Amino acid sequence: MSVLDARQRLVSSITGEVRPSEPMARHTTYRIGGPAALFIVLETLHDLTTALPILEEEGVPWTVVGKGSDFLVADEGYDGAVLVLGREFKRHVVEDGFLRAGAALVLAHLVQDAFSRGFSGLEWAVGIPGTLGGALAMNAGTREGCIGQVVDTVTMYVPGQGLTLVHGRDVAWDYRRSGLAGRGIILEAALNVSEGEPVRIRAQMERSLKDRKTTQPIGQPSAGSVFVNPPGDSAGRLIEAAGLKGTRMGGARVSPVHANFIVNEGGATARDVVGLIRIVKDAVRDRSGVELQPEIRFLGHFEEA
Ligand SMILES: Cc1cc2nc3c(=O)[nH]c(=O)nc-3n(C[C@H](O)[C@H](O)[C@H](O)COP(=O)(O)OP(=O)(O)OC[C@H]3O[C@@H](n4cnc5c(N)ncnc54)[C@H](O)[C@@H]3O)c2cc1C
Repeated sequence: MSVLDARQRLVSSITGEVRPSEPMARHTTYRIGGPAALFIVLETLHDLTTALPILEEEGVPWTVVGKGSDFLVADEGYDGAVLVLGREFKRHVVEDGFLRAGAALVLAHLVQDAFSRGFSGLEWAVGIPGTLGGALAMNAGTREGCIGQVVDTVTMYVPGQGLTLVHGRDVAWDYRRSGLAGRGIILEAALNVSEGEPVRIRAQMERSLKDRKTTQPIGQPSAGSVFVNPPGDSAGRLIEAAGLKGTRMGGARVSPVHANFIVNEGGATARDVVGLIRIVKDAVRDRSGVELQPEIRFLGHFEEA
């Protein structure tokens, strides 16, 4: 593989930025992560359809990153290309009764846009960081709802197939997992929102935000919930019951506010976070017999977390 050749070819053929050795700590909400060999902003569909074959030909692996709010990137970084969608993928319009939005649109902007147009259906998403693309890949949600419930169609770019329209009803929308993940690059979605009562929409958004502020360590770098809730239980409850709230490793800490958050208190490394993940998994297994599964995605090389 030749990252250098790929870089040279990309710089002369796409409009978006191509950065070598880009620290991923700048692109994750954890503020942790070593360099990606290449960091590529795909401003247009043309950039995307040009870049992918080049990476393929040069043997450079790639991954798509939204706002990095569900990622832990290794301290040694990622020996491949991080692709980020740019300008052309941030549009949002109402078309044929659907709210059609680009995958790079920040979810908070989408929620605000829906509210200002008097649409109901996304209130639950208030306060979830990240992009629409990340939300679709993860089937982001809360107890009140999830993105899969409002998807009419998704437009993706599937390597080898090109642009592909996927109907929401044909996608497996599981808890914090969707059948779209790993299939290609999500470009946009048409969302089935309905006209609602602005006062009621606003009240629900405010309630969700208030809940979040009282139950989560807002303001400290994290990637949200580290583990998915096991069936019928809550990971946070199990971790707290194992007496791990507040446990520290280096700059990382099991949040005293919400035990399923591991926060970066300053200077934490990916190794610190993974160390805590191991401690938590072992302690919960020993105490409750439950094998916790991570919700967060890992990028780069990790010994099994
Ligand atoms: C404080 C905090 C609170 C959170 N609360 C919640 C919550 O309540 N509910 C919840 O569900 N999540 C929550 N999260 C997790 C996270 O915000 C969501 O999973 C979010 O949807 C991820 O979006 P992102 O753009 O940051 O995706 P990233 O973290 O960048 O990526 C996540 C996954 O999506 C894939 N992906 C991203 N964009 C695309 C694309 N265009 N095409 C294909 N694949 C793509 C990535 O490859 C990766 O596998 C929280 C995180 C934080 C930091």
